[in-house]
Amino acid sequence: MQSSDAAAPTVNDAPRGLSILGATGSIGTQTLDIVRLFPDRLKVHALTAHRNAALLARQALEFRPGCVALGDATEVAVLEEALAGTGIRVLAGTEGLCEAATLPEADIVVAAVVGVAGLEPVLAAIRAGKLIALANKETLVVAGALVGDLLARHGSLLIPVDSEHSAIFQCLAGEPARAVESIVLTASGGPFRARPAGTFEAITRAEALRHPNWSMGAKITIDSATMMNKGLEVIEAHWLFALEAAQIEVLVHPQSIIHSMVTFADGSTKAQLGVPDMKVPIQYALSYPDRWPAPHPRIDWSRLSGLDFEPPDMVKFPCLRLAYDALALGGTAPAILNAANEQAVALFLEDRIRFIDIPHSIEAALEKLAKTVQPSYAMLVEADAEARRLVLEHGGAVAN
Ligand code: NAD
Ligand code: MG
Repeated sequence: MQSSDAAAPTVNDAPRGLSILGATGSIGTQTLDIVRLFPDRLKVHALTAHRNAALLARQALEFRPGCVALGDATEVAVLEEALAGTGIRVLAGTEGLCEAATLPEADIVVAAVVGVAGLEPVLAAIRAGKLIALANKETLVVAGALVGDLLARHGSLLIPVDSEHSAIFQCLAGEPARAVESIVLTASGGPFRARPAGTFEAITRAEALRHPNWSMGAKITIDSATMMNKGLEVIEAHWLFALEAAQIEVLVHPQSIIHSMVTFADGSTKAQLGVPDMKVPIQYALSYPDRWPAPHPRIDWSRLSGLDFEPPDMVKFPCLRLAYDALALGGTAPAILNAANEQAVALFLEDRIRFIDIPHSIEAALEKLAKTVQPSYAMLVEADAEARRLVLEHGGAVAN
């Protein structure tokens, strides 16, 4: 997703300055692994986290950014004490995250906060003309139209980190946009692909947190188990690649070797393949348009026993269907979908609702709440808050 006059970074030897939002999470820590691999090409200028002051302090002492920020200010004193005498500035709150996202020294902002909390700093970074390496798919789900307008106005460029979207982005390199017929987003199917639907009521938190192929943060791991992750990715792809829902197919591919595919107008299909490892798409977003030599695992073709595919089961996994519905409704509907999902997943992780109450809660929020077309930012924030309130008030009983 980019404005037509957005300049891709030039390939040269000057180190790229990074601001990493959500540095203590799964994507954030893997981004720092990439920085460790390329100390001459990447320089960290800002790191942020929500509450984990201890890990953020350790990261700051290793990477020596100019500033760090905690979204939740409770532990600021702990962080200040840990960094006393280092000259590293300590910031807090959404304001602090936005300052970290707009630092003049940062060329690339890695958006790796989980959930809609990542939206405001990304909007700030776009307004500051930064290149955005986007892992935070919720930003596009909630505010895709707004983000698109801002990117065009500020000449910024957004490079996807999500493995499927990175795959599509790589397949599209050098291709005319008009030649794209459709795309296929692959999905592992999560831990419950083969589990009988009749037993879904009994799914526990521990079972849902056990993803077969990827090690990720808790929220996205639950999203993968409900297949809402793929639903969010359909909406993400709609905005990133300017495609209609009918052009975006989801295909279950349990091995997670093909990360996604593009079919062109002449009948040719391109796919991007690799061992499931988020470091590859993270690195590509940081090296783009270059590719840097790295020791990430390669596919051993002789040991690859087979690649399987099956259509997704939208009855067993209603979250995927709900995401397509929200995309068709447009306006505030995807923001309602996202907020209801974030709230329901949080309740499930606290053992307060059942696994099957997650789609129930989202469906009820989409049905009950008024939807606005062409919403302003304030309307999106309000839709988000209303959906959370509804799910919180009614919990698992929301649809009963
Ligand atoms: P995570 O939970 O491991 O990490 C989230 C990070 O965001 C942490 O640093 C945390 O401190 C910070 N954070 C959380 N809530 C915050 C708040 N309210 N304010 C400020 N900071 C906050 O999550 P993750 O798995 O790294 O995922 C991050 C994003 O990347 C998500 O949007 C996810 O969908 C996307 N993504 C992740 C993966 C993966 O492999 N983990 C793959 C594709 C996309
Ligand atoms: Mg993905």
